[in-house]
Amino acid sequence: AVPAAKSTVSSAVKKPTTLSSDPIINVARGDPTIYEPYWKKMGDRCKVVIAGDEFMSYFYNAMNLCWFLLPELDNAIRTLHRVVGNAMVDDDKFIVVGNGSTQLFHALLYALSSPDMPEPINVVAAAPFYSVSIQLQPLQSYPEETKFLRSELYKWAGDANCYDRDEPYIEVVTSPNNPDGSIRGTVENREGGKAIHDVAYYWPQYAPITSKADHDAMLFTFSKATGHAGTRIGWAIVKDKVIAAKMVKFIEVSSIGVSREAQLRAAKVLGFIADDCRNPDVKGENFFEYGRRLMSERWGKLREVGMKSNGVFSLPKYPRDYCKFTGEYTDSNPAFAWLKSKEGLNCENLLRDESKIISRGGPSFGVDSTYTRVSMLSRDVEFELLLERLAAVKGTVNGN
Ligand code: PMP
Repeated sequence: AVPAAKSTVSSAVKKPTTLSSDPIINVARGDPTIYEPYWKKMGDRCKVVIAGDEFMSYFYNAMNLCWFLLPELDNAIRTLHRVVGNAMVDDDKFIVVGNGSTQLFHALLYALSSPDMPEPINVVAAAPFYSVSIQLQPLQSYPEETKFLRSELYKWAGDANCYDRDEPYIEVVTSPNNPDGSIRGTVENREGGKAIHDVAYYWPQYAPITSKADHDAMLFTFSKATGHAGTRIGWAIVKDKVIAAKMVKFIEVSSIGVSREAQLRAAKVLGFIADDCRNPDVKGENFFEYGRRLMSERWGKLREVGMKSNGVFSLPKYPRDYCKFTGEYTDSNPAFAWLKSKEGLNCENLLRDESKIISRGGPSFGVDSTYTRVSMLSRDVEFELLLERLAAVKGTVNGN
């Protein structure tokens, strides 16, 4: 069996299927592989070596409220936010690390709700709201994630724009927003209302950094900041000690902490970026300059295709703003493109039927089917193919 297996592998290597011969292109998910060439170019500069006897204990930061947060990561996170200027990280703020910001979202729902309330607390988000499908995993989104455990602590209550119940609520605000890239604040501003601010995309490659975000509970993720989604590291910046302690409890119960190896890698990469941004002697671009250039080139090409589509699909326009990080007026270059087709057309079906592009349609985000979302974070070869395929969409198939 062994030689046979070997020959299968070598024949597969000899005859690779090229992307352009692949009939289907999947840009429904936001896997941030766009940054791979940058990290390849950095070579060993972010290499982490871990010996067999290292990091064996569960326990390592007993003096910290978040006892499983690696001090090196705590330090790298605070330093990078100070360098970029995208979030307030004064010493009195608590940092809670999680297995991706997805786990921290659940931890926050738990922390912001209470078993003493007569009814589960309502969770709302303004449509279009975050929804992402990850290959090999079921659909994930704020509604799905909130409903999944059938919790008695909280329940999904739909679009924040339509919320009119006189009951306690948690509003989830994503800014820049996934899927449409808009810059957002809370829609509901009632006294006693609670909010989760998902600021995963508030980095210079995606949007101008106009001020330091300073909300009660903010979620960031290594996935979107640097592209290292597989490391599964996210962090929350939290003002209230009681909320932070409840989040720590949640992570203790669900995974007894967070991998130290993963944290060390995140600390190394984030620290490296911060050093590069601060060092005037660095030759070439720092990570954010590189990311911003790439994203802006991609958006330029996509807009060109959109303009030539004769109105079959259009793209949102974003206001320019002064970015305090770059010191110039910059455009938003969101991680997803939010395509809108002509009225009466189902945009997701149109792309699928005419160009075999798999995207995620408006209804997944709480809006109508004239919208669909495509990832801007794929590898170059996939992105070029996406442009080619989009240019071929004529809008002749009704796609309903
Ligand atoms: N929030 C938003 C807005 C996202 O787009 C994503 C990933 N697509 C996440 C959270 C999840 O991030 P993580 O990989 O850290 O779980």
